[in-house]
Amino acid sequence: MADRASPPAGALRLSESAARQLDVCVHCGFCLPACPTFAVLGQEPDSPRGRIDLIRAAAEGEVSVADPDLRLHLERCLDCRACESACPSGVRYGELYEGAVASLASSAPLGAPAALRVGLHAVGHPGLLRWAARVGRRRGRLVRRLTGSLDALLPAGEQPSARERLPVVLPAVGTKRAEVDLFVGCVQDAVLGRDNLAMAAVLSLLGVEVHFERRQTCCGALHLHVGGTAQAARLARRNIAAFAGTGRSVVVHGAGCGAVLKDYGRFFAEEAFAAEAASFAKRVVDFSEWIGPLVARDALPWNSDAPPLRVTYHDPCHLAHAQSVREQPRHVLRSIPGVEYVELPDADSCCGSAGVYNITQPELSAAILERKVANILQTDAEVVVTSNPGCALQLRKGLDQAGRAVRVLSLAELLTQRVRSPEVAKSGG
Ligand code: SF4
Ligand code: SF4
Repeated sequence: MADRASPPAGALRLSESAARQLDVCVHCGFCLPACPTFAVLGQEPDSPRGRIDLIRAAAEGEVSVADPDLRLHLERCLDCRACESACPSGVRYGELYEGAVASLASSAPLGAPAALRVGLHAVGHPGLLRWAARVGRRRGRLVRRLTGSLDALLPAGEQPSARERLPVVLPAVGTKRAEVDLFVGCVQDAVLGRDNLAMAAVLSLLGVEVHFERRQTCCGALHLHVGGTAQAARLARRNIAAFAGTGRSVVVHGAGCGAVLKDYGRFFAEEAFAAEAASFAKRVVDFSEWIGPLVARDALPWNSDAPPLRVTYHDPCHLAHAQSVREQPRHVLRSIPGVEYVELPDADSCCGSAGVYNITQPELSAAILERKVANILQTDAEVVVTSNPGCALQLRKGLDQAGRAVRVLSLAELLTQRVRSPEVAKSGG
């Protein structure tokens, strides 16, 4: 076996912590049934164990980083981390995979279309991203040609942006019980900004004073998906600086953002900045985690005239697998008067969105989405709730293509539709 501490020239380079994951894997194969790409393709190199073996071979110089098969099988991975939840040995697959992809990207660009790479530079510049989303929604011929499948994903109509609408401080309604900082994300706010406004409105109704720090920027999740760890670390430093000193919980609705923000400590594990990054990461909390304990049947001004509603829930991978937040959103849904909650089969299996996967791997993404849509239709639900913008857009596309009128809502948006409050209606929630 080659020495991974001093890899041969041309081998994959991993951090010490990522390389350690290779030794934690005992090849048991318990992760295989959880892997969506293995379920569709049925071959070992498209399974977690197969990919771990490929990464090991590349790190030891047995397989070249230029090997097209290595790149193919790694690019097909969703980075959904379902294998982490299934692994009895505690392999941190996401850390290993993101390290491998970063090393591959530094030797030669991965297979994402060039236009997408250019587009990623807009992420981190929320104003530019909002502009692009608006232009995309107008569906001009040129934009359609440039954005391709992105166009099919964008929701129709103008989306209100929390960045543009939220005040620096949104007061609590009634007696103030707490203060929080809000993290709104960039893609989330550009394409589904109403979810952020709904989150702020619900928190305010629960007696929470909501602070909006305008210096916050993109979390870096999309950059990580395509190996841009250095760019993600630069964004992390800006966010940590933006929220420094407030001491408040940082509440986030987008699961992909939350997973990355909670992982900022790992970004800087080998630097003096690690303690500051880890302390910020501890303050990050998902919206459902934060409101879960507060939402009882009388905590919000429920609208008793709201019609009965059958609702199911799709777990975003980066909430269930990366953050282990599963029960809290279900608890909130079960607490809403008039809502009949029904569990979705394979609820925590990926929908095929996975950052930019539905653009870089359209066929595989479509096959994975088809399974998800079939499961949703089995439930007879009128609404499917999910808390990640990528999942929401992907599920909406799949249900539209299936010609089914199942609505896709975020948790915050559903809550605003079940309370009696003129302020919430005005907020766009
Ligand atoms: S992250 Fe998801 S797609 Fe990738 S190997 Fe693990 S389960 Fe399979
Ligand atoms: S990643 Fe975990 S579950 Fe999968 S083969 Fe390795 S030890 Fe087993």
